Amino acid sequence: MTIFCNRTLNLRAIGAVGYDLDYTLVHYHVEHWECRAYEHLREALAGLGWPVSGLEFDPRRMIRGLVLDLDLGNVVKADRFGFVKRACHGTRFLEFEEQRRVYARTLVDLGEPRWVFLNTLFSLSEGCMFAQLVDVLDRGALPGVLGYADLYRRIKAELDEAHMAGRLKGEIVADPDRFVELDPDLPLALLDQRESGKKLLLVTNSEWPYTAAMMDYAFGRFLPRGMHWRELFELTIVAARKPDFFSRSLPLFEVVEPDGLLRPAPGGITRPGLWHGGHAGQVEQYLKLSGEQILYVGDHVWGDVKVSKTVLRWRTGLVLRELEGELAAVAGARSLEEQLAAMMREKEQRERELSQVRLRLQRRRRRYGGAEREAIPELERELGRLRAELVAFDDRIAPLAQATTALANEHWGLLLRAGNDKSHLARQLERAADIYTSRVSNFLRHTPFAYLRAPRGSMPHDPVVGPATSGPPAPAPAPERATPRSAAGTGSPGRGRRGSRSCR
Ligand SMILES: [Mg+2]
Repeated sequence: MTIFCNRTLNLRAIGAVGYDLDYTLVHYHVEHWECRAYEHLREALAGLGWPVSGLEFDPRRMIRGLVLDLDLGNVVKADRFGFVKRACHGTRFLEFEEQRRVYARTLVDLGEPRWVFLNTLFSLSEGCMFAQLVDVLDRGALPGVLGYADLYRRIKAELDEAHMAGRLKGEIVADPDRFVELDPDLPLALLDQRESGKKLLLVTNSEWPYTAAMMDYAFGRFLPRGMHWRELFELTIVAARKPDFFSRSLPLFEVVEPDGLLRPAPGGITRPGLWHGGHAGQVEQYLKLSGEQILYVGDHVWGDVKVSKTVLRWRTGLVLRELEGELAAVAGARSLEEQLAAMMREKEQRERELSQVRLRLQRRRRRYGGAEREAIPELERELGRLRAELVAFDDRIAPLAQATTALANEHWGLLLRAGNDKSHLARQLERAADIYTSRVSNFLRHTPFAYLRAPRGSMPHDPVVGPATSGPPAPAPAPERATPRSAAGTGSPGRGRRGSRSCR
């Protein structure tokens, strides 16, 4: 797979590349990891006396980019404008009319405490538990829990507790074969970058013992003989506390090896090696590089790319491993998409004809606009015929449109799509990440010297790439039959507009 660009990035102008660890340099089998995280969480909640023994992790119910609605106990998928396109209350999906009624006047705004964005694959277990416990709370079986926001706060506290205790990470270290998905090409991609003169950084929230164990496991076997992974990195910064690492001045410590003791470092970073905490300003100072010369790559939409971009203007890359499965699903459904696009073009043509006939009938009845000689019965027959055709179109389009909205995940569809538009995650990704890709080793395709160009931005008035619709642009289509199916049936014709976003 390739690297996709939102904003043109000249790798030759990049002096340093920083990497996150978890789900960036080290990838995990998501279902195994999140299942164990869920089980730890369930155990902790059972310890509070909550009735959770019958609950099981369901990886199909959550995807990255969904949003928890803490006011209503819902999980929603929103489009790039914040309009809710799909929602469930607890584990029950809302019917179209109910969803429209509930969210008709509500936009998802991640700046409000009401909404919790699932930023990373680590969020799937908490999202799943939240949805399931909303059902339990609604049954009145969680005494003492004061609503959905309180429910989420308690879940989050227990989950953090489980992570903090390190039990889960202890299991990973003890049995990495089960949890870690190796990428033999990854160390070579980093070696290329280092040998081209770039300074490499590892900046992770994980503690040093866990970082060391994971990097030993994932990198050691694939590096040239005699080389240690630490030699790849100018700086290894553990316990970084991102996103605060990018936005606040936190204390820095030097890790004294081999015992791992921490020594305060009030003078900042003074040499290559292993550091604990601190902040991004100290990295810039040590490297003598400014924001535009540093690329940071991570998997957390907020903690890795959004804050480093917003606060420091670092160049940013997002790792979105799910892209691989999603692009395969899209490729497998190409004939379905083409069929749907062809039917939508025909439907749009009928809608234009119907609008014209309605207008002629209106002019004839009101006796203006030169339509006085038209025969009313004939126009009414034509209107009836077109309406019947459109109903028939909707019946044929609905199952196809439904199938395209269930690609990759039968409940939520594609990560970066919401209905016929981009998803809220896609919007976050466009704003925060200059580039995105499914795995770091995809840099191998582009070399450290590539000029990664973003495709030309497009607007609705730009020429359409792909099959054009015939006739003049239609006015807003009249909702001849305002059903969920017709709303969903405004499927995919716009999707070809932008062309490929692959970097060249
Ligand atoms: Mg990470």
